[in-house]
Amino acid sequence: MTTLTADLKKNNKKVPVRGMMDNVMEQFNSASDYIGLHPNIRKILSITNNEIIVNFPVKMDNGEVEIFQGYRVQHNNALGPYKGGLRYHPTVDIDAARALAMWMTWKTSLAGLPYGGGKGGIKIDPSKYSQAELERITRRFTFALADNIGPEHDIPAPDVNTNSQTMAWIADTYMSTRPPAERTANQHVVTGKPDGSGGLEGRDRATGYGVYLSIKFWAEKNNEPLVGKKFIVQGFGNVGYWAAHFLEKDGAQLVAVQDAYGSIENQKGINVEDLFNYIKVNEGSIVDFPNAKTIDKDKFFALNCDICIPAALGNQITKQNAPKIKATLIAEGANGPTNVEGEKILIDRGITVIPDILCNSGGVVGSYFEWLQNRNGEIWQLEDVMAKLDKKMKESFNKVFDYAKNEGIDMRTAAFCIAIQRIEKAYIQRGIFP
Ligand code: GLU
Repeated sequence: MTTLTADLKKNNKKVPVRGMMDNVMEQFNSASDYIGLHPNIRKILSITNNEIIVNFPVKMDNGEVEIFQGYRVQHNNALGPYKGGLRYHPTVDIDAARALAMWMTWKTSLAGLPYGGGKGGIKIDPSKYSQAELERITRRFTFALADNIGPEHDIPAPDVNTNSQTMAWIADTYMSTRPPAERTANQHVVTGKPDGSGGLEGRDRATGYGVYLSIKFWAEKNNEPLVGKKFIVQGFGNVGYWAAHFLEKDGAQLVAVQDAYGSIENQKGINVEDLFNYIKVNEGSIVDFPNAKTIDKDKFFALNCDICIPAALGNQITKQNAPKIKATLIAEGANGPTNVEGEKILIDRGITVIPDILCNSGGVVGSYFEWLQNRNGEIWQLEDVMAKLDKKMKESFNKVFDYAKNEGIDMRTAAFCIAIQRIEKAYIQRGIFP
């Protein structure tokens, strides 16, 4: 398995992340034009409020010191504290953090949450570090961010290559640096914690469940049964796995998966739980899964299917592969997986895209529930969490679907219009200081 890291590197080189900022700005500008957003508010929303770059040293297992670069971009807080994940990936840089922070602002606004948008992370390939090293890196990063985060100011969460363990280290480090009387009251400085440490039951599945619900609601609107629908998933992490899990339960069939290491296909169906159990014993990779054939990674998006779920990184559906896509529905589990050029082709071809800021918003809605739970000193039950998530996702989906239908526009523009208008209202009511 020494080839895994080499493959990952090769793969990453091909991901043109530099365009993410162009994409989010084009999406923002075209929705702003559509609603005639006031030029002053457009100016404010076109830039980020704060950008924090930290360089910090960490002692490695071999005694050497390595310097890491971490980021936290706080785009906008007109509606509440900055909210958004921390990503550990070689593609993380200030540009990526800016774009992802902006998407969080639209996402939390659309979901009707009392939050703004932020995002950050570390430029790192975590597969190269031991668990003990990752713990020290995370704790030192938290210490470097210091008072730039906080439960009522900026609340990180998991994202690509970070998980509940990462969040537990952040919470513990942050709380340890507070004055004694404030320590435990600061648990909600991060969400996505393990369930024994203030985490919310169901937060793990919240994003994937939201992706599944978005697809289900779309199918209901179109009188299409999910039974027998073929779907493909790019990325079999937390989002991809849970989305596949719930879709399979409803009778849809997983026929292909791509991860950072390879691509597999079986048009007769890939059992979701079998694949999930396989990756646990295969260094987290889908490669060589026995019940599927290996396919060329460039052919992935052209595979025969009804629904395509990009649930990995940004800029995956582009003008290169959009003309060949067979799916009639794209459900964006990742942030920014379809670039603007790719999307134009999809729209021309009559392919529906459920946009990221709606489709994957179950995660941040789950985070909001966790934050409320901690803030109120409560412990919520799984069934209540899922029911509340269902209700929230349905409200958002209907708002976007109806807006798009009434205006005759695509769902992404509709979602952006709704999100921007809510922030615009806050600025109009409050004015600009001084
Ligand atoms: N990283 C997730 C996202 O992109 C979750 C963010 C959060 O829960 O704050 O939406």
